[in-house]
Amino acid sequence: KEVLLQVRNLKKYFDTPKGKLHAVDDITFDLQKGKTLGLVGESGCGKSTTGRVILRLLEATEGDIIYNGKNIHELSPKDMRELRKEIQIIFQDPFSSLDPRMTVSEIIEEPIKLNKLIRDRKKRFERVLELMDLVGLSRRLMNTYPHELDGGRRQRIGIARALALDTKFIVCDEPVSALDVSIQAQILNLLKELQKKLDLTYIFITHDLSVVNHFSDDIAVMYLGKLIEKARAEELFSNPVHPYTKALLSAIPRPTLEKKGEKIILKGEISSPINPEDNCRFANRCPFAEDVCRKSEPPLRESGENHFVACHLF
Ligand code: SF4
Ligand code: MG
Repeated sequence: KEVLLQVRNLKKYFDTPKGKLHAVDDITFDLQKGKTLGLVGESGCGKSTTGRVILRLLEATEGDIIYNGKNIHELSPKDMRELRKEIQIIFQDPFSSLDPRMTVSEIIEEPIKLNKLIRDRKKRFERVLELMDLVGLSRRLMNTYPHELDGGRRQRIGIARALALDTKFIVCDEPVSALDVSIQAQILNLLKELQKKLDLTYIFITHDLSVVNHFSDDIAVMYLGKLIEKARAEELFSNPVHPYTKALLSAIPRPTLEKKGEKIILKGEISSPINPEDNCRFANRCPFAEDVCRKSEPPLRESGENHFVACHLF
């Protein structure tokens, strides 16, 4: 098994008038080539920021991101430009990132042109058609504009753009959250197919655990900038350890699984990510919180094979 991405003690803090906002707070994980890591948590937990820092769309405050054996923060501007052809992002709402005055084929052609990947116009056009086929966009749509298309087709354009260069790794940031449920499945299947065909590696960011269930190899759960549990997807679903993961799982309907306990309703506010104290960030909402939880931060420990959890109870 080849490791493509190693994230080590990654931190991203933002300065605010009230203090330091710990958006990503000391996160460590590995991702193997050709696999998908589902990065899950409520909005504001730092999952999107993590994705952007890994792609270096934002600079890290501290920590290492080692991609293919190289620390991406130590790359020269030239090497970074080269790497940008391999690492891509797919957004939740491709519409806002698509130029409304450009046709579908122009939008897909743009990254190829900008990166001078194919200089010959005819060859470039053939590549655009190939990409449209690859993402299941009818060639008839070539000269249409994004506003004429539904959300699913717009997301296919976003995916085609992400694949236009030498793509090996994609951060998918809530790629189906804005879509109807029926279309969600189509886009998830497409991403899965493309992964197999092109040997892609994904980080799949979502607030919805039910979406990543069959999609991810591993799942990492984040809470207020911290990675609180990580395991193989099946293991996380069948044997969640952290009280927060249990609460998230209890909230999704799972007709195929026998009912395992009641729905856990979380009380209390999410605590502030600004100047957090040295404690369990989940303590004010956790039904099992004890004194120790408010006094010290639980480290991420191995609770089983390839299963890591940050909770004092385990
Ligand atoms: Fe709950 Fe304490 Fe575990 Fe935090 S460390 S999740 S407060 S039991
Ligand atoms: Mg987000």
